[in-house]
Amino acid sequence: MAAIQVPPPVLQRIDASSQSLGEGMPIRRALPTRERRLVGPWCFLDHFGPVDVTRGPGMRVGPHPHIGLQTVTWLYEGEVLHRDSLGCVQPIRPGQLNLMTSGQGISHSEESPAQRPAMLHGVQFWIVLPDSARNGAPAFDHYAELPRVEHQGLQCTVLVGSALGADSPARMRWPVMGVDVRIEGAADALLPLDPDFEHAVLVTIGSAQVEGETLEPGMLLYLGGQRSGLRLRAGAGARLVLIGGRPFEEPVVMWWNFVARSKPELSVACREWNQGDAKFGEVEGYDGARLAAPVPPW
Ligand code: MN
Repeated sequence: MAAIQVPPPVLQRIDASSQSLGEGMPIRRALPTRERRLVGPWCFLDHFGPVDVTRGPGMRVGPHPHIGLQTVTWLYEGEVLHRDSLGCVQPIRPGQLNLMTSGQGISHSEESPAQRPAMLHGVQFWIVLPDSARNGAPAFDHYAELPRVEHQGLQCTVLVGSALGADSPARMRWPVMGVDVRIEGAADALLPLDPDFEHAVLVTIGSAQVEGETLEPGMLLYLGGQRSGLRLRAGAGARLVLIGGRPFEEPVVMWWNFVARSKPELSVACREWNQGDAKFGEVEGYDGARLAAPVPPW
């Protein structure tokens, strides 16, 4: 493999946009944005809640397809029920990881279960699959336990990849890392980083100072690459996600729930889903309609 071009260190503040998910759940989307489309292979960062789901339907995202990606779901509060075309029916709760690998095609739904905690709060991130994996078989994995490491006052959980000498069991297809960081007391810490990765930080609860930049929910800080450590100061109760990865080298285009290499490929995926192509399978048991792919403007 040719030498990787790792970008220099920068501090780029990126405002998340306000969007809505499924039947009107407000979310903050930090990737993709006008300023930045990728951090390593991470291509989509959604932060939902905290929202009171005691009234109304809670989260309701009807059956929809994916290609070309892995989804990473991680909760701070509440519960979400995942159903997919492989027949997996899996609740996820705080501290657990759902990893869905679309391969050449999968479909799934996500909903708040009838019996549920009052609050819902979490993230769903997407990771691009490289050519070597994107035409493979779909898969779904639930990890009830993940490695945890205490480091200079930071309670770190390794979601994907490796950090602080601990390895996530999640099977990834491109060099990538993601760590949940929780601060119980005040912390002033130096987190080691892989200088061959580019990184970004998303604060999800409270506020934190990252390399001197004060961050709160709704703001992504892109850090560039070539860093061997990250200075992090935060007060009690703050929470953030550090993501990183080797710069992704293949062309990436996205439309709706599809990640591909070209616009024609996206058009084909929309048509196939809307015509009921068998490659996406069927989601059973969701009480509601499947979502239609919006026709791309090109
Ligand atoms: Mn989805």
